[in-house]
Formats: sequence, C-alpha cells, structure tokens
Amino acid sequence: MMAEKGILVVVSGFSGAGKGTLIKRLMEKYDNYALSISATTRDPRPGEENGREYFFHTKKEFEELILQDALVEYAQYVENYYGTPKAYVEKQLNKGKDVILEIEIQGALKVKEKRPDTLLIFVTPPSAEELKRRLVGRGTETMEVINSRLARAFEEAKGMPEYDYILINDQLEECVDRMHGIIQSQHDRAKNCQEFIEKITEEIAVFQKGE
Ligand code: ADP
Ligand code: 5GP
Repeated sequence: MMAEKGILVVVSGFSGAGKGTLIKRLMEKYDNYALSISATTRDPRPGEENGREYFFHTKKEFEELILQDALVEYAQYVENYYGTPKAYVEKQLNKGKDVILEIEIQGALKVKEKRPDTLLIFVTPPSAEELKRRLVGRGTETMEVINSRLARAFEEAKGMPEYDYILINDQLEECVDRMHGIIQSQHDRAKNCQEFIEKITEEIAVFQKGE
C-alpha cells in the first residue's frame, strides 16, 4: 500500500482502564505510531517528566495556548485543563504516521466533529470491580481522587455508544494486537486509498486504448 496520510486515532476510556499501558506496549511492539503529548494543568505524578508524559503548564499558560489557537481540542477533567497541541499532530499525520491521542470523551467528540475521519476507540476493563482494582492498584492517586474518577466514569459510560470501537482490555497482549488490527484496517478503507485508486485507474485506462 502506498504511503498516504496517517490515521488520527483517539483512545479514551475510564481512568484506570489501562489506556496508558496499552498504548505504551503498542508503540514498543509496532512501528509507525506517533503519540501526541498533551498539555495539562495537573501536577506531575512521581516519575513523570515535562515533555514526556505531558507538557505541564500553569492555568495562565494554558489559557494562552487556547487564545493562540494552538490546540486541536481541550477540555476540563476533574478540575484541570487538558489539551492536544495542534502542530505536532499535523506534522506526523502528513508524514504518514498514525497519530494517537489519549484523551477524555469531551475532547474526543470535539475532534470527531472537526475531523469526521478520526477513529474513536474506547478502552474498558471487563468489569467495574476490575476498574476499581486497577485504579487503586496503580497507587498514584489519593482515595478522594480515585472516587471522583470513578464517579466521572459513570458519565463517561454514557458516551460509549459514540465511539467506533469498544476495546475490552482483559489480557494485555491480546488487547494490544486487537488495537493494532483495528487501526491498521483503517488504511484499507477506500477513502484512505485515494492515491492508490487514482494510480491504478490511470494504469488500467491504458487498456481502454488497446495499448
Ligand atoms: P489509564 O491510562 O487508562 O488510566 P493505566 O494504563 O495507568 O490506566 O493502568 C491502570 C492500572 O491497571 C496500572 O496499574 C496497570 O498496570 C494496570 N493494567 C493495565 N492493563 C491491564 C490488564 N490488561 N490487566 C491487568 N492490569 C492492567
Ligand atoms: P490523567 O490525569 O490520568 O493523566 O488523565 C486524565 C484524563 O485526561 C484521561 O481520561 C486522559 O485521557 C485525558 N486527557 C489527557 N490528555 C488530554 C487532552 O489533550 N485532551 C483531553 N480532552 N483529554 C486529555
């Protein structure tokens, strides 16, 4: 298949569903993915680095990014701003990379509205009990924050039908492979093969002239 523009992929899901783990593994295992690094006003977690997990900003700096129209989308999530820097996404898509945005549902729906060809994947654990177990087991949030995230999960569940795919993250490796399969199958959609269609149509036209 010829190199066409990359696929824009939005991955959402309940906090603790395993999105970060899945995406990390996807990128280790397969080439041609680029992960967008979001801007946020939340505090870094232990071990997180500015420019690696997120670009950490003050509220004032973030509002400046909004004014400069430097974000594809942004949303507020449990009292913090999160947003997707525009320049990186465009550059990688033009290079033919499949770009992954790991963003929450309000942002996901905004991206789909702006760019209807975006692929929306919703990641969920197999059960609510497992969700709580993973969120508590991760050990990165206080019980208060965990409870507000679980409360938010109920709202997010209502948005699941808006997504193109629901990906149940039970066995990690199997889930990584399914995610890769879903994304790669988008490259074979007719609307993503315009250049190839034109090329082979031109080649075949020669037969009309009996050459
Ligand atoms: P998210 O990015 O969706 O908030 P994380 O990737 O941080 O979630 O995962 C939350 C916790 O669940 C982590 O401790 C991670 O190791 C664990 N986890 C992720 N995927 C699985 C899985 N398939 N089975 C069991 N535990 C998982
Ligand atoms: P966390 O604080 O756990 O890293 O992320 C909280 C939520 O914010 C997650 O659901 C994550 O997907 C979402 N998020 C991260 N970056 C962005 C972004 O750029 N835009 C939007 N809308 N949500 C984001």
